[in-house]
Amino acid sequence: MSRKPYVGRFAPSPTGLLHAGSLVAALASWLDARAHDGTWLLRIEDLDTQRNVDGAAEAIIAQLERCGLSPDPPVVRQSERTALYEAALQRLLALGRAFPCACSRRDLALAATTPDPRSDDNAGAERVYPGTCRAGLGGRPARATRLLVEPSPGGGEAIVEWHDRHLGAQRQDVARAVGDFVLKRADGAFAYQLAVVVDDAAQGVTDVVRGEDLADSTARQIVLQRLLGVPTPRYLHAPLVRAADGSKLSKQTGAVPLDLAEPLAALRAAGAVLGVAANGDRVAAWLEAALEIWRARVVPRA
Ligand code: GLU
Repeated sequence: MSRKPYVGRFAPSPTGLLHAGSLVAALASWLDARAHDGTWLLRIEDLDTQRNVDGAAEAIIAQLERCGLSPDPPVVRQSERTALYEAALQRLLALGRAFPCACSRRDLALAATTPDPRSDDNAGAERVYPGTCRAGLGGRPARATRLLVEPSPGGGEAIVEWHDRHLGAQRQDVARAVGDFVLKRADGAFAYQLAVVVDDAAQGVTDVVRGEDLADSTARQIVLQRLLGVPTPRYLHAPLVRAADGSKLSKQTGAVPLDLAEPLAALRAAGAVLGVAANGDRVAAWLEAALEIWRARVVPRA
């Protein structure tokens, strides 16, 4: 059976420059796409206007180019694609699977029975929603829009099983882990979970290769894919670079931006995290050698 042509993507949020951790995700998705003779897209995930940093998207593109990681056109920005997310939201509302929510963070904190998982900078983490507005707003003004996650058994789709090419078999009960998650935030921004599903489908992405911190979001994204009737890509969640205390390396934990003067050193370090010990004393030669190693690992011989 012939497979659809491979389409991969790197989808950074322009909240700052690439650091050692984000380069690992970029390199892994580039290697996987090129090893499959596929397309490698760059998508700038700039919906969170409060966290965007001016000029960061251009700087990220320059950093990638310096590391020899050139995306295939077009580079898209989520801020220019909100009509697509709105259409998907309207579809979910029409299906009766989305509902307005009037709860403030404070309301949710008061109703919560679980600790706030956001403390570890997990982009996808939310508290389990207590279901307050499922039955209506009670006259309160709508703030956010949430997905109605039917518990299993019953609705049936809340228990999601999926295969990760690095982590192996995965399973999440979305109803218990997060509940009715946000599709459109109180500040009017479309949520990452909705936008990523809409874009991966619209761009024909067949393979999502990204950092392990996003593995936890995958089940929510699969729930949305099923409701919207779009394909589920293959997933590979690459290892994270850890800070000295074992936490995820991120801008919040003080990760330093990549040194543009030393792209080869940055690539070698990222390769080491991926178990790719390539030789090569220039960027192009190193990438070629890394590609050979990745290809031997992931592409079955004909
Ligand atoms: N924009 C997300 C981030 O920077 C990545 C999204 C994805 O790869 O699915 O964490």
